Amino acid sequence: MYDIVIIGAGPAGLTAAIYARRASKSVLVLEAMSYGGQIINTPDIENYPVAAHISGYEFATKVYEQAQALGAEFIFEKAVGIKDNGAAKEVVTTDNTYECKAVIIATGSENRKLGIENEEKLVGRGISYCATCDGAFYRNKKVAVVGGGNTALEDALYLADLAETVYLIHRRDAFRGDDTTVNALKQRENVKFVYNSTVTKLNAEKRLTSIEVTDKNTGETQTIEVNGLFVAVGRIPENQNFAQLISLDEAGYIKAGEDCITNVPGIYAAGDNRVKNVRQLVTAAADGAVAATEAVKFASAH
Ligand code: NAP
Repeated sequence: MYDIVIIGAGPAGLTAAIYARRASKSVLVLEAMSYGGQIINTPDIENYPVAAHISGYEFATKVYEQAQALGAEFIFEKAVGIKDNGAAKEVVTTDNTYECKAVIIATGSENRKLGIENEEKLVGRGISYCATCDGAFYRNKKVAVVGGGNTALEDALYLADLAETVYLIHRRDAFRGDDTTVNALKQRENVKFVYNSTVTKLNAEKRLTSIEVTDKNTGETQTIEVNGLFVAVGRIPENQNFAQLISLDEAGYIKAGEDCITNVPGIYAAGDNRVKNVRQLVTAAADGAVAATEAVKFASAH
């Protein structure tokens, strides 16, 4: 029986592990993939206090090592459910069941898909959800980025240094992401803005060759030749496996406030998978601290 099981080894889960271990609780962190969460795809973090520049991978590795050194146990299995037996909970993974007093769900989110034909088939053959992972394959080639948030803007800026041309396709004429990045993109001669438009078709032979883009206002379509399409249209919280037990909002986020407390006593939510206004590295880490503090109190009392 662990005191606390943490589901997810992103910044929220890892920070929770550090806090819970410092409170002398036994801690198991379950992770489906590798530690770090989505931050490992960020080439340069500039907005986390202390380090003016640090790569997402280096950041995640340091926090992972810090949690390990404090005695947190890590098992790389996907959690597929939680059973609530009152004071004791069971976290069910694809391989095992782990008993504990308190659970912190820090599962983050996954890439939203465009949902158009051939999208899945062309992943790795022209379609990518990670510019920093795959951008180097498109040196001096033509690429498009779809989306209007900070991820799309930063991806476009990153790709502008590598690719011959970057088309930035957004479904509105105003960006959701930061003006600073929009202004930086406007300085780049190889970045072409395609407003009020969505990608409606993917044309491919063995690999992606071009995309059809439809203007939402006029209904007109144009075909843009590209070697790569980087999809950055937001993320979907990974809470489906816990939906029977935990209350979610209509978008699938866990209904937990700044105290990270869910509808089930002893189960907490931390990071991007809960309802919140600011989804940043620093707020994910803050959630980890808050959720762990609550979980420690619960585990001590049961
Ligand atoms: P996001 O802010 O939710 O933006 C998603 C974008 O995709 C929006 O512009 C949205 O359009 C568009 N979109 C959604 N569904 C679409 C569809 N089916 N077809 C076409 N376009 C679609 O997501 P994000 O950019 O991944 O950012 C997530 C969070 O992380 C944000 O809070 C962001 O600020 C943060 N972030 C921060 C940094 C940083 O601080 N350096 C870097 C990256 C991300 P609409 O605008 O019309 O809704």
